[in-house]
Amino acid sequence: MIKKEEFQDEIGDNHFSLSAKNPIRDDAFAISDDEKIEKIKKDVENILLTLGMDLTDDSLKGTPNRVAKMFVKEIFGGLNPNKKPKASTFDNNYKYGEMLVEKNIIVYSTCEHHLLPIIGRAHVAYISNGRVIGLSKMNRIVEYYAKRPQVQERLTMQIVQELQIALGTEDVACVIDAKHLCVNSRGISDIESSTVTSEFGGKFKDPQSRREFLDYIKMETKF
Ligand SMILES: [Zn+2]
Repeated sequence: MIKKEEFQDEIGDNHFSLSAKNPIRDDAFAISDDEKIEKIKKDVENILLTLGMDLTDDSLKGTPNRVAKMFVKEIFGGLNPNKKPKASTFDNNYKYGEMLVEKNIIVYSTCEHHLLPIIGRAHVAYISNGRVIGLSKMNRIVEYYAKRPQVQERLTMQIVQELQIALGTEDVACVIDAKHLCVNSRGISDIESSTVTSEFGGKFKDPQSRREFLDYIKMETKF
């Protein structure tokens, strides 16, 4: 069984800790993923029945099971600490001392207020203080924290904090620009608006580094 502390206190060798935490209960991992799927299946069934849907219809028969599996294994799969990507780092042998930016990382997340999709792009940067991380690991960290019921502000902070822990430096930044379907497809139904959040750690608080990072994000990638 996974203990709550394992989920929350992700403290690395450098004693940074993840302070932006998802609100989860103590017994969040008391039952297995398969048991969760069984329970959620019944719940989805109940929602559809209450709405008046005929679950014997061929098209709807499999829906409760599909939704339950999708919740546990896919869109909320990042709640499970076992799915956390190993953020292995390497010595910066080539002594590259400038910022590294991984931009246009696609974000698929879910708004925890409406359980509707958040879709956008994350741009992540760090300045190495001796350690470097595999490029795709940054995508995987974004993906892991995105696959939870989320608010965009928390997601942005979690990505930065995770990389600060992995790299042992404060010098990490993240900007996310995303559309929230709870704004775009219902309520105010504004399909054009998007939400930008940012977190700047260490040297990125310095206006010049911040400017440089934002300029790289705007650069058009031609190949
Ligand atoms: Zn929402």
